[in-house]
Amino acid sequence: MASGHCLCGQLKFAVEGDPRWVAYCHCASCRRHTASPVSCFVNFDLGHVHFSGKRSIYVSSPGVKRSFCATCGTPLAYETAKRTGEIDLYLNAFDHPETFTPQKHVFHAEGIPWFDVRDDLPRE
Ligand SMILES: [Zn+2]
Ligand SMILES: [Zn+2]
Repeated sequence: MASGHCLCGQLKFAVEGDPRWVAYCHCASCRRHTASPVSCFVNFDLGHVHFSGKRSIYVSSPGVKRSFCATCGTPLAYETAKRTGEIDLYLNAFDHPETFTPQKHVFHAEGIPWFDVRDDLPRE
């Protein structure tokens, strides 16, 4: 059972089983939410993820919920009404991010032109 937490430790999570997929996201909204040139998500069935602590939710566009620690602001998850029953957790919130290996890039064309990762993964 993998686990993770925010920077201050107030908000924790644990996941059951294996992720459905792992992907880099280059979209402008994720880049802004994390203030980073790229994000990496680990996708799970919503029912396999258990949070403890106070989670704040920001609706960044219709049907999209971005959640973060109410105390320190660390972004933890992304949920969209287009994929109900799933949740995307930020790779680097995990205690052992090295456990999960990215399989693809999404919104690659929307990324910062000077930023790329040296790999042969599919770019969507
Ligand atoms: Zn926190
Ligand atoms: Zn994104």
